[in-house]
Amino acid sequence: MGAKGYIMQVQPFSVNDGDGIRSTVFMAGCPLRCRWCSNPEGFTATPVIGWYERKCIGCGACAEACPQGIGINLNAERERCIACGKCAGVCPADARARMVTLTDADDVLKEIQKHRLFYSYSGGGITFSGGEATSQTEFLDCMSREIYDMGYSMDIETCGMFDWNRVSHILARMDLIFMDLKIFDSEKHKEYTGVSNERILENIANLAVFGQQDTDIFEIADAEGRTGNDGHGPEIVIRIPVIGGVNDDDENIRASAEYVHRHLPHARMELLPYHRYGQIKYEALGMPYDHPEFRTPDKAEMERLRDIVRSEGVEIADFR
Ligand code: SF4
Ligand code: SF4
Repeated sequence: MGAKGYIMQVQPFSVNDGDGIRSTVFMAGCPLRCRWCSNPEGFTATPVIGWYERKCIGCGACAEACPQGIGINLNAERERCIACGKCAGVCPADARARMVTLTDADDVLKEIQKHRLFYSYSGGGITFSGGEATSQTEFLDCMSREIYDMGYSMDIETCGMFDWNRVSHILARMDLIFMDLKIFDSEKHKEYTGVSNERILENIANLAVFGQQDTDIFEIADAEGRTGNDGHGPEIVIRIPVIGGVNDDDENIRASAEYVHRHLPHARMELLPYHRYGQIKYEALGMPYDHPEFRTPDKAEMERLRDIVRSEGVEIADFR
């Protein structure tokens, strides 16, 4: 195929990113900077090397291999790193690791095909995630076309910040679109994610074209008419990552659910509690992770917020 793109990871056996057992393709690059992001290595579509100090045994092999003369503590000299990956190649403890790699689409496809039996037995498939998968639009277009023609189910997780005219024909190929609506108030959205949310709200409304009239889908689809769900177009799930102390107020959840119901009467919503799983990656990148004010909502709080969503007429989806 020849196309190349920046990949964080192809994670097999994912069970929370759509139906069945899936391989999740994490693509680097994102226009948002959510303060709670658990994949900070994916902020930019560039190669990234991490140093996991907790795993390091201090052997010095990385420093000997480095063409830039960088020592064991990569994070003290990160600005000189050219991400050549030589240190990761010699580290005996996996303490130096390639966190984002320029990868051939063919290699991604080979990796995906290793697990094809799991997809067919479980009703699973492939999920594109990130970072923000749509930020490498041509690479995503190319890979999703190939995977569609291989006959695998495809889902995508997106922050919703993209150019609809460039991306909609790719979305039409999916069986399921997960799109985030992190905070309904635009000013607050900008404060916590770095961007205002007008385009995201617009793209949520644009999704109305799916799941209603098949003819509209074929107008959006590519010239070969690749459309998910056997021509019926993708299902839609709008997701809220619930960050205690930021967006867990009733007003935010209610306004979000009301907007979703008004524009996408067939869509479901999924509410996911905040977690700190990404903390170790911040350490590997030498980035601060210091948000004591962010809280993980407990089960009772999550269920209360889901009830608010239901009260607005929106069905709850649960892939956990
Ligand atoms: S990736 Fe290359 S330049 Fe960067 S620390 Fe490792 S060996 Fe040195
Ligand atoms: S090669 Fe790996 S284990 Fe050895 S000093 Fe470097 S990072 Fe640590």
